[in-house]
Amino acid sequence: MKRFSLWVMTLCVSAVGCQSIEQSAAKFSLVSVEDEIDIGKETNAQIRKELPELTDAETTAYISAIGERLVRAASGPKYPYTFSVANYREINAFALPGGPIWLHRGVIHAATNESQVAGVLAHEVAHIAERHAAGQLTKGILANLGLGLLGAFLGNSGGADAAQAAAGLLTNGMFLKFSRDDERDADRVGLQLLRRAGWDGRGMVELFEILQREAQSNPSSVEIFFSSHPAPQDRIEGLRADVERAHGGTRDTTRFQSIKARLLKMPAARTMPAE
Ligand SMILES: [Zn+2]
Repeated sequence: MKRFSLWVMTLCVSAVGCQSIEQSAAKFSLVSVEDEIDIGKETNAQIRKELPELTDAETTAYISAIGERLVRAASGPKYPYTFSVANYREINAFALPGGPIWLHRGVIHAATNESQVAGVLAHEVAHIAERHAAGQLTKGILANLGLGLLGAFLGNSGGADAAQAAAGLLTNGMFLKFSRDDERDADRVGLQLLRRAGWDGRGMVELFEILQREAQSNPSSVEIFFSSHPAPQDRIEGLRADVERAHGGTRDTTRFQSIKARLLKMPAARTMPAE
């Protein structure tokens, strides 16, 4: 974090202005892998206090096992990936910098086979493996927050405070939105991961089709998803050629169906509070 602060300072002194930094922000990262991991851990601790976590050991072990299999197929830095289930009915999932991934329980209810859930997780693993958070943090620090956060980073000498400051902003949703390019990239890389890890690539497209149907029949269940992701139709178009070649691999397991049945016997998932 200390090194990070110095970089920001050096850049702001040497560049013509912060505008030019903003324009080239997409091409470099001010945030190291270690910074990402620190910020992600801090953010996850804060999010855990606010989200209702599904604590059913069988379900979380199952989701983690799918996640770990995808992680083994991923390239990029060795992040400490973790997989948690939020007890929310809305169809959504999100990745924090450096490893933590959350899946909403609503995804398991909406999915009809295992490859669809694995497809959602593959997309999130891809965001982390491709270091999209580092890019967004860099852009956010330089463009959106400017001097305010810069001051916060420069004003303290320790990494923990800086990580905490960034985590506070992340928890408030300031950086959680990835760019459309990042989303396209996460779909493309996610599909590769899904196939490499042994699932049928069609699962990813099928989940988008479920989202489209839900948008018609049950709009509130997908509102949060659509506020942070491109339209499913665009994503299906983007993947169509790859998916044509993606047949083969696991589509479903008896374990998936038994987890689904198990969740149906539990108290209903909660509705996300309005912003
Ligand atoms: Zn995404």
